[in-house]
Parts: sequence; structure tokens; C-alpha cells
Amino acid sequence: MVSIIIVAAGSGARFGASIPKQFCLLGGRPVLMHTIDALRAASHDARLLLVLSPLEFERWTQLCHDYGFESPQVVAGGDSRAESVKNALDCINAGNDDIVMVHDGARPFPTKVIVEALTSALAEADGAIPVVPVTDSLRMIDDKGSRPADRSQYRAVQTPQAFRAALLKKAYDRNDISAFTDDASLMESIDGCRLTLIDGNPTNIKITNPYDIAVAEAILKARQ
Ligand code: C5P
Repeated sequence: MVSIIIVAAGSGARFGASIPKQFCLLGGRPVLMHTIDALRAASHDARLLLVLSPLEFERWTQLCHDYGFESPQVVAGGDSRAESVKNALDCINAGNDDIVMVHDGARPFPTKVIVEALTSALAEADGAIPVVPVTDSLRMIDDKGSRPADRSQYRAVQTPQAFRAALLKKAYDRNDISAFTDDASLMESIDGCRLTLIDGNPTNIKITNPYDIAVAEAILKARQ
């Protein structure tokens, strides 16, 4: 059984719009509906869990009504991304062969290719993470100033990330989960956990700043 947790309970403070970025319009529909449709198309028999802030439940119900959209099961989010993931994991009964993927609601373009590559990678690993090369030059900053960093040694991490469900639940069974910014780093806290990297996709962008919507509109057009 594959479960996909879509975390969309953030307030989107960096985005600066009056509504959280996952509800902003992209091609005339809320970003989150693109994300959900893309995951449904990528993985037909997966169970989807959508994590939302309880403050947004009413907005989401209204949007689903307005757009004739069928929502996945909704789970209440927490104060941090990690708490939001944990709340969804608590709704999943994990067997040995089960897989959990975790995806950011603000990434509207996950693909079937990535979902399939993640699933295949789990034959040999406990967790699989899509990454892309860093295209900007990098500088490392410390209290003495800054110095160049070799970008060929770094990768930018995307979602969805995929894990053996029982191990991910174990990783989240600790008190300091909010100190971790993604699921892979939490998994690595388990002794002997094997993580593998797969090729991500540069168009699998996360909407963070308002201009990302314009980029997403261009990606959407190019894919039609
Ligand atoms: O803020 P950032 O874009 O890094 O958040 C990544 C994802 O985590 C977003 O999809 C956001 O909605 C989600 N999130 C959440 N619960 C929180 C904070 C963030 O589901 N408390």
C-alpha cells in the first residue's frame, strides 16, 4: 500500500499574499488542486492524505464546492512541517511492505516518472529523495565572513520523498521533530537507515515567492 501525505498547512509567510500560497490561482485553479491531480495521475491506487491548517478547512471546503473538486481525506496540521507530517502518519497503519511518500502542497508539478523512480529505489533502500544540481554559485557563510563553496558537491532536495512506512513512523516517534526541516534528515537519525538519491526534475518547483506563480504558469503552458 502506498500512502501520499501532502503537507499544505503552512501559512506561507514568505509568500506575502493575503491567502496561503497553496490556494493561489495557477491556470485558473488553486495550486493545491494541481498538486493533488498530478499525484492522482502519477499513482492511481495510492491513498492521499491532505494536511491543512484547521483555520483553512472552511476555505478548502468552499473551494472544492466551487471547482467541483473531490478532496482527499483531510488531516489537521501542526505548528511546524514536521508536526503536520506526524499528524498524517498517525492516521496510517504501516505494514512491512507499505510505502509513505511526503510531498509539499506548494509543488504543483510532481510527475509519474519521479513517483515510479522513488518506488523502484525503495527495493534497495529505506528512503529515496529526488535531488537536482545547484545552478547558482554558492558561498558558505560563518562568523568570520564568507568563502566560495564547491557547488558540484551539493544538491537541492525536492519532494515527493519516499520511505518505508514503518521506519518513517519510527523516525517521527521522538520529541524534537520540529528541529528537522525535511523527512530525510529525520530518517537519518535512525541507525542503519539507507537513503538513496534519485534524479529530481528542475520543473518540480516549490512556490515560495510571488514570481514563482509566473514561472509555474509558464511550466503549466509548456506541459499542455
Ligand atoms: O514553508 P515551506 O514552503 O518550506 O513549507 C513546505 C511545506 O510544508 C508547504 O507545503 C507547507 O504548507 C507545509 N507546512 C505544513 N505545516 C506547517 C508548515 C509548513 O504542512 N506547520
